[in-house]
Amino acid sequence: MKKTPKTLAIAGGPQAIKKTPEAVFHWPIVTKADENAVLDVLRRGTMSGTDITKQFEREIAEWMGMKFALGYCNGTESLRAAMWACGLGAGDEMICPSMTYWASCTAALTLGAAVNFADILPDTLCIDPADIEHRIGPRTKAIMVVHYCGHPCDMTAIMRIARKHKVKVIEDVSHAQGALFKGKKVGTFGDIAAMSMMAGKSFAIGEAGMMVTNNRDLYERCVAYGHYERTGLPSNYNPTDRSIRNPALNHFAGLPLGGYKHRMNQTCSAMGRVQLKHYDKRITEIQAAMNRFWDLLEGVPGLRAHRTPPGGKSTMGGWYAARGLYRGEELGGLSCAKFCAAIRAEGIPTCNPGANFPLHLHAVYHDADLFNQGQPTMIAFGQRDVRQGPGSLPVAEKIHEIAYSVPWFKHDRPAVIKQYAQAYRKVAEHADQLLG
Ligand SMILES: *Cc1c(COP(=O)(O)O)cnc(C)c1O
Repeated sequence: MKKTPKTLAIAGGPQAIKKTPEAVFHWPIVTKADENAVLDVLRRGTMSGTDITKQFEREIAEWMGMKFALGYCNGTESLRAAMWACGLGAGDEMICPSMTYWASCTAALTLGAAVNFADILPDTLCIDPADIEHRIGPRTKAIMVVHYCGHPCDMTAIMRIARKHKVKVIEDVSHAQGALFKGKKVGTFGDIAAMSMMAGKSFAIGEAGMMVTNNRDLYERCVAYGHYERTGLPSNYNPTDRSIRNPALNHFAGLPLGGYKHRMNQTCSAMGRVQLKHYDKRITEIQAAMNRFWDLLEGVPGLRAHRTPPGGKSTMGGWYAARGLYRGEELGGLSCAKFCAAIRAEGIPTCNPGANFPLHLHAVYHDADLFNQGQPTMIAFGQRDVRQGPGSLPVAEKIHEIAYSVPWFKHDRPAVIKQYAQAYRKVAEHADQLLG
């Protein structure tokens, strides 16, 4: 890479980014085929039907190599159903990384369960397998893992711990559809997986979610919980498809056990079927683009890629919400906030420090009383108090010092990517201008 200008833009120098090429970042890619599929649903008036959704489920199940898939109105609800299916109930606990979007675990409270938060690893930003086992108690029903910002979790270590203690594993695949861990798709390692497919994710089809599992019992429990129209009670509006074989669950046929309505709008599943046809090809291009960006920054002090080793058997899927790792000690102690401010000045307005809010510190997990019991739900049903204050999960708590956003390239355009890499390199190499 050629030598970069000496004065940073924040100090009055020229900006590294000349113009913002919109198409490089635009997502999802929508073609006539998507439009026609959605229009067909609208014209047929089958938005609330399930014929297209069931086709989409079969295709997703096949793509992931799983026996069962079930479509949802959003990812949050698919995760809630997965928790209930795993038996999470009043007085139980679920282990979950603190660094994730709230939907990975907040619904546990609505089941009367508490969340026992684990720390993350500073290089993967995924749950630290070494911080799981000591949290398992007699009421621990599930471990929720999140393949964070596309990075696969260490499923070998996680499954070993879970099997040893007979605790179920739920994979939140919302950030990582299509990502591989040791050559196998994430979402296929645990007992059940659930994911968001909302408009901002890498698999983006509107407001939608998906559950996948190889376990018929878990699948049937998910159907019984929020897909009442698929249970065994015949009705003029919802002719049964007898998908539930468990007589205990069929006893409640026709009403959802959770009182939830989880059906996917078919405009979304229609778009999903089209998107799936192109998804592998499109994320392969994203991976090429993002790896190109990080290859250009290899060896730059203070900056590390958040990625799996290029050319290896693990991948970053669609590289959702791409991050970089920051090591300020290599830049004379420059704060990540100041680093990002200088990057923004170079013409990248989306660069910010951190990622999600560390959930273990949020008031919802300390004080919220969801059931009017006169005490926080986190301790209302449990035998022990697993709430954690500041200082308890040091890596998640310093996320704003160790991670920052980087451009999420959707197309592999070498000249554009080089310009962006140059901006990050320029600021890191001239960090001394920002100190003091
Ligand atoms: C987006 C997201 C969800 C929630 O999905 P919705 O479709 O928005 O309900 C769950 N978990 C993670 C990690 C997410 O990023």
